[in-house]
Amino acid sequence: MNRQILLLTFLALLTIGAGPKTHQYVGESVSRSYSCGAIFPDWGTVSGYGELSVVAHSEAFREAYGSPDAFIRGVAVHAATDILWDSGFKAEAMAQDEASELDVEMAVDIFLIIEHGARRSFDSSTCQVDKAVRTYGALGHDVTGQQINDGLAVLQRIMLLERIGAWFVYPDFVSRLPWTHANYYSAIRSIINEVG
Ligand SMILES: [Zn+2]
Repeated sequence: MNRQILLLTFLALLTIGAGPKTHQYVGESVSRSYSCGAIFPDWGTVSGYGELSVVAHSEAFREAYGSPDAFIRGVAVHAATDILWDSGFKAEAMAQDEASELDVEMAVDIFLIIEHGARRSFDSSTCQVDKAVRTYGALGHDVTGQQINDGLAVLQRIMLLERIGAWFVYPDFVSRLPWTHANYYSAIRSIINEVG
């Protein structure tokens, strides 16, 4: 496992917003039951359905979903985290460390794994996939439960790769992104306070 492989995996993500581990950490810190919902909206980004991921980040999706259960509150936490992340910490980290968006996302996931023991995977069976399929349908988007579950499986594999590779890439990220390293945790705590 080297930095290139992790970077390539992350390139497949091409996400807007925080990395998957960061989303899980925020979700679990707000409440454990939010965890799957807090990861869910990026299922399409990593599996070739980027436009369906955009829908899952929208307020229209949460409104069409209806019942305010733990899953959809996790989805809301995800969307809020992306907005707070993109509008604040990420831009400053990129400027201070002269780093790419991808580097900052990945570095923070790795720091969380090494420094805060964020090593758990998430249980995709706690995502309300059937209800999500109906919600997409109500908004005029055809998607199957299989497509969503495949996307969630990709997210699980990315997080597994991060856990496996964390110790190998950690020293490099610490030395290349010193500002990000010094400031990411307080940034995440303030996001948790705001969305919680
Ligand atoms: Zn997202």
